[in-house]
Amino acid sequence: MTNTPVDPTKTNLLKPDPLALIEAARSGGYAVGAFNMHNPETTQALIRAAEIADAPVFLQVGRAVVPHMGVREAFEMTRRELDKSGISAPIHLDHGTYDEVLLAIKLGFDSIMFDGAHLDLEENIRVTRDVVERCHAAGIPVEAELGKIPDASVSINWSDYYTQVDEAERFVAETGVDWLAISAGVMHGVTDVAQQPLDIERVSQISKVTGIPLVLHGASGVPADQLRNAVKAGVHKLNADTDLRHAFRAGLEEKFSEGDRQLEEAMVAGRERMIVATVQKMREYGCAGTANYNL
Ligand SMILES: [Zn+2]
Repeated sequence: MTNTPVDPTKTNLLKPDPLALIEAARSGGYAVGAFNMHNPETTQALIRAAEIADAPVFLQVGRAVVPHMGVREAFEMTRRELDKSGISAPIHLDHGTYDEVLLAIKLGFDSIMFDGAHLDLEENIRVTRDVVERCHAAGIPVEAELGKIPDASVSINWSDYYTQVDEAERFVAETGVDWLAISAGVMHGVTDVAQQPLDIERVSQISKVTGIPLVLHGASGVPADQLRNAVKAGVHKLNADTDLRHAFRAGLEEKFSEGDRQLEEAMVAGRERMIVATVQKMREYGCAGTANYNL
């Protein structure tokens, strides 16, 4: 065995350590992709892409899959797919409610986002602090959200949505969250209205006053140069779903356009397209080649 010096910008993922993953991203000046699973084939696509790109990845149980199969089944399905693979990756609850957080702790999620952004600031601080205590007691890092990340196609007065710098400082100091999802001009989903450029100055100020890694949701559709600037300003976890979902769908449509086909054939085509799209994201985010899966 050779004794290779440890590169602090890389992480061996034999055991998922989400905090270390994001810290490595911070030292290495890149962001880790966090993508939603929807069924076995989309989970396989994310895992396969991570293997191909040698990239860390957060496998997210997101808002769409929860009413579809429930938090437990989504977790167990993701666990099964990971166990079959050559990698390990954190299974992350995205936008969890308080009750889902409690369930996720019991199930053994590696990483949890509690979304209290609909609450007023005082209540968001109170509940998030409680979530942080429970999760940290179980060794699970917590992402929380401050400011509102609007859904696409809503007409928007951005000042109602942006994360405020002073509130972010107080929120992080009083809750002890590990990462903060912020609102800085990005929407969830696809939008027909003109894209708002990211408020990089705001990202940078929030990063400075909170001192913790930031998270950007809705990264699909944000131009690559803006994402790079966001990473430089302190964003080290990027959540994207729409582009990958569209890639999967394009595979399905392509297969069915050839005539009547089995669903399995169509899903294989979807999975192939999604693998390619995910590898591309990992390269854009700068996390490709940092996982050391082959150590
Ligand atoms: Zn989100």
